[in-house]
Amino acid sequence: MSQQTGTQTHQHYIAGEWTDGTGSETFESENPATGETLAEFHRGTEDDVDAALEAAEDAFEEWRELSYIDRAEYLWDIYHELRERHEELGGIVSKECGKEISEGKADVTEAWHMVEWAAGNARHPHGDVVPSEVGSKDAYMRRKPRGVIGCITPWNFPVAIPFWHMAIALVEGNTVVWKPAEQTPWCGQIIAEMMEDAGIPDGVFNMVQGFGDAGAAISDDSRVDTVLFTGSAEVGHEIASKVGGEPGKLAACEMGGKNGIVITEEADLDIAVHSAVMSSFKTTGQRCVSSERLIVHEDIYDEFKQRFVDIAEDIAVGDPLEEDTFMGPAIEGDHVEKIRKHNELAREEGANVLVDRFELAEDEIPDGHAEGNWVGPFVYEIDYDTDLRCLKEECFGPHVALLEYSGDIERALEIHNDTPYGLAGAVISEDYRQINYFRDHADIGLAYANLPCIGAEVQLPFGGVKKSGNGYPSAREAIEAVTERTAWTMNNSKEIE
Ligand code: NAD
Repeated sequence: MSQQTGTQTHQHYIAGEWTDGTGSETFESENPATGETLAEFHRGTEDDVDAALEAAEDAFEEWRELSYIDRAEYLWDIYHELRERHEELGGIVSKECGKEISEGKADVTEAWHMVEWAAGNARHPHGDVVPSEVGSKDAYMRRKPRGVIGCITPWNFPVAIPFWHMAIALVEGNTVVWKPAEQTPWCGQIIAEMMEDAGIPDGVFNMVQGFGDAGAAISDDSRVDTVLFTGSAEVGHEIASKVGGEPGKLAACEMGGKNGIVITEEADLDIAVHSAVMSSFKTTGQRCVSSERLIVHEDIYDEFKQRFVDIAEDIAVGDPLEEDTFMGPAIEGDHVEKIRKHNELAREEGANVLVDRFELAEDEIPDGHAEGNWVGPFVYEIDYDTDLRCLKEECFGPHVALLEYSGDIERALEIHNDTPYGLAGAVISEDYRQINYFRDHADIGLAYANLPCIGAEVQLPFGGVKKSGNGYPSAREAIEAVTERTAWTMNNSKEIE
């Protein structure tokens, strides 16, 4: 194991070395359920990013010459380590980002699924052979690595998302400079240690800890061939617009959503209630695919509302490490304030508030956790209107609007699609025509039927349309973002053309 565990100020990992970097500032990782300091980290500077990019450039030529299989071998070591340390790492995820423990472990599971997929990809068919217009010619498309990939990741899946980006980038022969989220540097530290322990050659993987300025130093640098970003729409659009001006450079950005579930008059109400509760409150509503709008047919509206509200009133908010906790805390104090503002905006815009547990009662806060960033469910009903900001802006918290609709599935979809985002959504119905209509007309990248609007299968592209994404920095589609294509034609005859 690396020397980096213990109580020291943790370092960056650049060119195969642990280093304090050039800056004098440090920052802390905090447990959002207790306010306790977990560890201290050096804060990365532009110069540190510069050193990491130089290392990644230097390492590229040798790394790209290895076979796919050889590159994948390093990833298989990491796959086994993720599996062996599942419980331990799941606990660290829960402690650092406040997800309840089963979700902490699921984050690690998703990471090894992605590593397994990316490493397994080394033995998959790769490229296209096409018939040439002339019989004696070979014509095919092959891929080659793009070079240096800059990865910038959010805090809410602190192990899975980094591997979504980095595993396939590395197997495809690129080198990586990664900045973990400032809220979850401990998870970043552990991933860097795993890369080191797997023996990945110096400079192939580099990690700089820090904040948005370090992220911007990565995305702005012309040595970066592709930026893989997951995070908020504000930052993602800023990166995409800056990178868009540079010929040959790509930015694949996965961003937020204002996701909705359509519950039709043909819905099985047990499925509807379960799906809505899971989608709205798991991870304390802090998933990109969390549902903040429930669009419910008038025939079943009252019954659905009653059942949903009863659960929201009772949902167990508490210590993420306790097995019976359903919802942990919000990630940080600033985010609690952001959620408060969204709740207030809904009130100002005419919400009829059905559940307001934003400020938990004193006896609901677990002993010894007074400093945690506690928030509970906020549920309201409101008459749909296209001008309402509360139905358009992502809150990223346990904040849910109930919208009653009358008429057919077409009307439900008009309401559903009336947001600038296009990430995820679900339909709950027993009528396959309604389900198919939703599949074909919902303006989203991730559509679910009779399921909670959460979850990812690594074999499928994960990402949105409209304001939610301009590419898929994950799964199969990420191969596009981390490789270049060569269309190859070769004359096999002696004929001169
Ligand atoms: P964020 O945009 O604040 O931060 C994401 C990362 O970008 C962090 O590492 C941050 O330091 C960095 N960053 C900040 N400013 C930057 C800049 N100017 N240039 C470059 N990098 C910069 O997002 P967050 O709060 O960590 O995550 C929450 C958001 O992420 C939500 O909107 C959520 O919906 C979204 N998200 C999307 C997906 C998806 O797959 N679509 C998955 C998870 C989270």
